[in-house]
Amino acid sequence: MKVRPSSQRPILEPCSLKGFAYQLDPYIGCEHLCSYCYALNRAKTDWTNEILIHQDLANQLERELSALEPQRIYMGWNTDPYQPLERKHQQTRQALELLSQRGFSVSILTKSDLVVRDIDLLLRMPEPSVGFSIAFQDEQVRQRFEATSPPNERRIAALRRLKGASIRTYTLICPVMPFITDVAALIELVAPHVDTIWIYALRMEAEGDSNWQNVKGILDRHFPGLTEQYRQIAFSAAHPYWAQLRRELEKIQRRSRLDLRIELRW
Ligand code: SF4
Repeated sequence: MKVRPSSQRPILEPCSLKGFAYQLDPYIGCEHLCSYCYALNRAKTDWTNEILIHQDLANQLERELSALEPQRIYMGWNTDPYQPLERKHQQTRQALELLSQRGFSVSILTKSDLVVRDIDLLLRMPEPSVGFSIAFQDEQVRQRFEATSPPNERRIAALRRLKGASIRTYTLICPVMPFITDVAALIELVAPHVDTIWIYALRMEAEGDSNWQNVKGILDRHFPGLTEQYRQIAFSAAHPYWAQLRRELEKIQRRSRLDLRIELRW
């Protein structure tokens, strides 16, 4: 994997998620290469070949933070801040050091247990939170759709460590892959370790998009009976599959009183 420095864009960017004005991506591109990744459709570089890092992240971020009041920043919506390169390049750790020194806090979304390395910095922030996304209960199936991300057991162990350190934790069951993701089983797996569980549908926009081409290729090879059903379900929020899943999840919610956030519409 080539790593190329880039100084072409701000480090903090506007965030569309409720409760956050800014998001921060320490890397441009993501080595995890999940087949269904939405960000792949907008990628301007080939993530299988090169990842861009911010040149002089510390100084640039310091300048950008100086114009802002302390607040919570979201990390991990477009790329994983704890992808394998972080072990060596420590862009995320540098950003967290600065944010903690300036009184800012973060909500981090990742698939990697490397995040536990930074518990010391998170504990210096007001009300940080860390979430793991997870989409498959079966390890072999997970490997087909997610090329390099860590297995569930490492994600769960990390959630346990974070919760044990009194950091707020959450899970995104995302994306729900119709007839493959067992949402109830994943809720049961993560519930003891998180405060909130978000559930997001697999959502495709155009047949030509990279993520649909990737997922379709895997379905054709390994789940040939499902491709056509996915074409119906993943391109339509109004498909009865999602309404049925919502009813089942609402039943689980009533029975368990878990904090489930069911985000199956788009
Ligand atoms: S970890 Fe997230 S950003 Fe990275 S490839 Fe997977 S879905 Fe995309």
